[in-house]
Amino acid sequence: MTNKLNEISKWLKENDSEVCFITSPENVFYLSGFYSDPHERVLGLAIFQDAEPFLICPGMETNDARNAGWQYELIGYSDIEHPWELVHNAIVKRVKSISKIAIEKEHMNVERYEALTNLFPGSIFLSAEEKLRKLRMIKSKDEIATLRQACELADFAIQIGVEEISEGKSELAILAAIEYALKKKGVSQMSFSTMVLTGANAASPHGTPGPTTIKKGDLVLFDLGVIVDGYCSDITRTVAYGDISDQQYEIYNTVLKAQLAAVSMVKPGVTCSEIDLKARRTITDAGYGPYFPHRLGHGLGISIHEYPSITEKNSLPLEEGMVFTIEPGIYVPNVAGVRIEDDILVTSTGCETLTKFPKELQIIK
Ligand code: MN
Ligand code: MN
Repeated sequence: MTNKLNEISKWLKENDSEVCFITSPENVFYLSGFYSDPHERVLGLAIFQDAEPFLICPGMETNDARNAGWQYELIGYSDIEHPWELVHNAIVKRVKSISKIAIEKEHMNVERYEALTNLFPGSIFLSAEEKLRKLRMIKSKDEIATLRQACELADFAIQIGVEEISEGKSELAILAAIEYALKKKGVSQMSFSTMVLTGANAASPHGTPGPTTIKKGDLVLFDLGVIVDGYCSDITRTVAYGDISDQQYEIYNTVLKAQLAAVSMVKPGVTCSEIDLKARRTITDAGYGPYFPHRLGHGLGISIHEYPSITEKNSLPLEEGMVFTIEPGIYVPNVAGVRIEDDILVTSTGCETLTKFPKELQIIK
């Protein structure tokens, strides 16, 4: 079995749990190599202490699962079969009695919980989420190589966006040009809805692009990411179109200073809170503390937001192999919205910035 599956088997032994039944597409992908969005249908991966794992998915996807490399038992079901009966039969074939089932409590819905409870009456449930978050937090060499490609394409996307800026062009027109260029490069999916925000719109950290057109004196904020082989990148750059005000400059340079200060601290042993606070103090000292309303960053990988969470309260020490964003921002309504975001890999001695698009203020004439 793969190292990842072995890790779960070992964890089941430590926790006296006979079976782990994983149902979230992200964790099924992480452990099996097969990604599927089954919508309301059941997708599940069962892992045991000693017995072989099995995967259950909609029958029409079994070829995809094999092509993705799944080599153990694979159960496909039709739309008129009851997947839970098949799950039950495959489990009892491997283990005589079930007393403790590890599931993803945050992902499992009540209907499925009741189905499992009916199949295995009297059993108790254990959360597998924390264990999986910890496993996923440290990236393997292969995962890092994939993230590197996703970050290169994110840099390319920003380059396209910057080149598209011109008087009177709308946020949505620029967004469409970025995604068209990416599709032509073979990118089928973005990590999340691409953001192109200009002028006052950029002052909302989670704004929605629309028909607003670009004009001289605007800051234009791009926040986007691409998915490569199941792994997400996430980058933000803010550029100026024409001459901007002194305060806009001040805000940009404060965010840049905070971002660089935080990145320069990253190495194994430093805590998440220390790097958040470093950036936060830089922004607070410049008088913009109240205008930085979110955490400094988040882990990323198969999900766009995963562990570690880079907050001022998280005392978790950084470890080699973690990948997360550093993305301070200042949002002053009607004045400016600036965020600068990179994806950072913790190395044995420090860090590497995987997104490499320049961060010095670019003024598009
Ligand atoms: Mn982002
Ligand atoms: Mn982000």
